[in-house]
Amino acid sequence: MTKHQGENRRYGKSQNLILTWCFFSYMDNGAKSVRFLSSFIILQKFRNPHGCKSETKRQKKKRDDILAEFVYNRGSVSEMKTEKTKETGEQKMKAYDYVVVGAGLYGAVFAREAVKKGKKVLVIDKRPNIAGNVYTEQMEGIHVHKYGAHIFHTNNKKVWDYVTSFAEFNRFTNSPVANYKGELYSLPFNMYTFNKMWGVVTPEEAAAKIEEQRQAAGITEPKNLEEQAISLVGTDIYEKLIKGYTQKQWGRPCTELPSFIIRRLPVRLTFDNNYFNAWYQGIPVGGYTKMVANMLEGIEVELGVDYLEKKEYYDSLGEKIVYTGPIDAYFAYELGTLEYRSVRFETEVLDKPNFQGNAAVNYTDAETPWTRIIEHKWFEFGKDENGQELPKTVISREYSSEWKPGDEPYYPVNDEKNGKLYEEYKKLAEKENDVIFGGRLGEYKYYDMDAVIAAALDMSERELG
Ligand code: UDP
Repeated sequence: MTKHQGENRRYGKSQNLILTWCFFSYMDNGAKSVRFLSSFIILQKFRNPHGCKSETKRQKKKRDDILAEFVYNRGSVSEMKTEKTKETGEQKMKAYDYVVVGAGLYGAVFAREAVKKGKKVLVIDKRPNIAGNVYTEQMEGIHVHKYGAHIFHTNNKKVWDYVTSFAEFNRFTNSPVANYKGELYSLPFNMYTFNKMWGVVTPEEAAAKIEEQRQAAGITEPKNLEEQAISLVGTDIYEKLIKGYTQKQWGRPCTELPSFIIRRLPVRLTFDNNYFNAWYQGIPVGGYTKMVANMLEGIEVELGVDYLEKKEYYDSLGEKIVYTGPIDAYFAYELGTLEYRSVRFETEVLDKPNFQGNAAVNYTDAETPWTRIIEHKWFEFGKDENGQELPKTVISREYSSEWKPGDEPYYPVNDEKNGKLYEEYKKLAEKENDVIFGGRLGEYKYYDMDAVIAAALDMSERELG
């Protein structure tokens, strides 16, 4: 056993690893990246006394082959490391040019770009899986968005060309339905919504209704989310489709939230239920995990390792660190904790083919405890990879909560108070030599996936030339 494997041994005994292994084994047999990633996971599986019960002989042979490959790969990496960490003249060389902390989109894109430039890269992640919050896992032949629904959309051609070089995308268009106490409305706010809400038929009638409600509320310059929402769509829509949902999602009244959050949603005087104003949109065929595995192909990845717990060790391995975890956690919360919203999912397999007839249904009243229900199969039109109908369905109820240490942080709360604290952390980050902070958590920014990829590509260009 190499030293490096020894370091790993203390980590990641979660049974999720077994599930993850089953998942990866099920994925594309020929994908080298998947084999390579599986090898890390498998090693951890061997440490776990509970095996994958349903393993067949063929799977066992495949597992043994993968393990052999793993030992070979890790052995050679370890030799390289010993040789390179020897004193070479005055300078001590480190084993990697970059240690990337976090195998989510930012980390995977940076790692890919660095490797393209001939750099040596190690990617680590404390979860037992790659792909961060875009991770998808197979259940009943369905790619389940384990950390919440992700619909890729962008107007950035460069980003679209980039992602489509790692995955084929389907033509999914996000059209959520709002359920307000049993009344169903189309989202985003468009002529279908206005017709159902007010019975208006023409765009002029809809615009007049919104204007009438805006004037009655007396809003000229919106100062918070509530005022912004009313001035965009009027009081009725605010009360039924925005107020309850937003307060559940953010745990704060709309009067205390920044207006930009609601401006994420389009308002249209056309019959168009497309949630995004994006030229390009879709879901990667085979799931996001496969796409990120393709980004990480041939790159060393260690899963189930916590950088902040072993900071000194990982810092000694890399000339530079690319850190995509929470910025306040990096500094041991020395200036105080930034606020995040966390999300909890209750996922169920249902023995029926269709639960709600749509990928996303938002529960916009204040009383229903969940914010939305995702029915994952509709991201892929209810079909498996061979185009067959699926007899079962998988749904996830999403509950929003205030983040506390130990929870997964999902959404930065980009209000004034947190914005100021982040600026203080940013000053500390700027003084941190040889560390690049990036991504939704590293930059404390409510980034969409395409913006994260664009930011990682920009950083790569600046850093790598
Ligand atoms: N929102 C709402 N009602 C809805 C959906 C969204 O009021 O049915 C508001 C809510 O404040 C939310 C914001 O719009 O935080 C942005 O929604 P989006 O769907 O972009 O949030 P995400 O998908 O990132 O959770």
